[in-house]
Amino acid sequence: MAYMTQPDYVKYVCSCGQIKPITSLYFCRHCLQIRCGFCICHEVDSHYCANCLENMPSSEARLKKNRCSSCFECPSCFHTLSTRATLAQPRQTPEQGSGDSKVENKQAKKMYYLSCFNCRWTSRDVGIPDQPVASGGWPERVNPNATRVNQLLDYYKAIAQQEKQEKLDRERKKFAIRGKYITLTDKTGLTGAMARNIAGLPSSESTMSAIANFVPSVASAEVEELSEEFYTKELNLNQITSMAQRLAAPEWQPSSVARLYPVAKLLSVKRSQRCRACDHNLTKPEYNPGSIKFKIELLAFYHVPEVKIISCEPVRAGGVCQLLLKLSNPTAHEMQLRLLQPADLPQPGAEPDKAQPDTLHSLDTSLEKSLNLDKEEVWRETVQREACVAATCRMLTPDLALTLAQRDDAAEYDDDATHDANDIIMWRKSNKVALRLQVECAAGAAGAATAALALQYRYRNAVPAHEPRDHTLHATLLLHLGDICG
Ligand SMILES: [Zn+2]
Ligand SMILES: [Zn+2]
Ligand SMILES: [Zn+2]
Ligand SMILES: [Zn+2]
Repeated sequence: MAYMTQPDYVKYVCSCGQIKPITSLYFCRHCLQIRCGFCICHEVDSHYCANCLENMPSSEARLKKNRCSSCFECPSCFHTLSTRATLAQPRQTPEQGSGDSKVENKQAKKMYYLSCFNCRWTSRDVGIPDQPVASGGWPERVNPNATRVNQLLDYYKAIAQQEKQEKLDRERKKFAIRGKYITLTDKTGLTGAMARNIAGLPSSESTMSAIANFVPSVASAEVEELSEEFYTKELNLNQITSMAQRLAAPEWQPSSVARLYPVAKLLSVKRSQRCRACDHNLTKPEYNPGSIKFKIELLAFYHVPEVKIISCEPVRAGGVCQLLLKLSNPTAHEMQLRLLQPADLPQPGAEPDKAQPDTLHSLDTSLEKSLNLDKEEVWRETVQREACVAATCRMLTPDLALTLAQRDDAAEYDDDATHDANDIIMWRKSNKVALRLQVECAAGAAGAATAALALQYRYRNAVPAHEPRDHTLHATLLLHLGDICG
């Protein structure tokens, strides 16, 4: 949902300190905070093929190496390949060809091949025989290094197993020293090996043998010499594959276009996103891969007042210029709004609406859970937040309490706007208001002109059983007003 007209001139400061356009932000209705892709958890919900829309559980997707078994991409231009049908004439045997009517009894058979509608590559180009069925049945190629890859996989699995065992043994020893630990054997007569057997885990003997029997690769200083033809044969670049084409099939990496084979299409995922602080879902797509709808879709775009730049005079160092802004209320409730200086915002944590003790506690535990949001990270973000608000221009914020009506989709078609006789309010139209503001630029300033603005707005929470329902929230924005001219 990106704008074509105003890409990133207006950005919002996320609760983690990142600066993003409103279209890439989320809003947690439970913590009442803006969240971005960096400060939420991403979870894979389902795997599906974007071409045939088949969906599958993750275990099956892993088995198929995250590729669809019936859709292919063009190995030359990566466009999706289409299946084409032709009629194959039955081959004439010599006796049939001798002139009797036996040929007519045999019907022409439908045969299928793959073709790219973009670059005209076909599976016939590389000598793949046509198939009698429309989908599936395409010859599968075996990875030339499959045996070695499996050996390596087994070896690393064995190492992981061994390390786990060593860790367990160490912990057992620690407890045994304290004298508080009763081993399973004491209690049940079950040995560790027996327990592993029951659980279907490899025994420590097989782990040891897998490690012992592994033959590591050996680097060699001697390199085979290039054959003479590399120096003498004229190169035809039309026959050589590009780097992208080679890497599309990492197992084979064909160097000649005659060896390009159809590439099985990679699966896409549907993911749901979760607030790290409260574990509630911020987005949850519908399971059906054909649907583009969401069951939960808490985008900032639907909850945080939106600011767009209508126009801005060129910013001059040491001067004041006029900035026209449009503010809109995306929520289904009337919204009171004030413009503030970012410096006047209450410090995070000091806000009575947000800093409820239980929210803070759950924030702590989920921070521990999350990947690497340790204390240092949080500290860096605080610094970043202060830095990003250090704008080169100062926006003069009039002390004005605005009331914006709720969003009304039908009002989008209204042409009439009410024009206020106000110096600041230019016009109003349903849930939108246009403001005339002044931007001050310090003398001697140079470079990009940016101005920071803070919004204070009343937000009504629609979550049932969420008390209190009305909250005063804040959002900090960074506006890009072009370059400062001298
Ligand atoms: Zn964030
Ligand atoms: Zn598919
Ligand atoms: Zn192609
Ligand atoms: Zn939350």
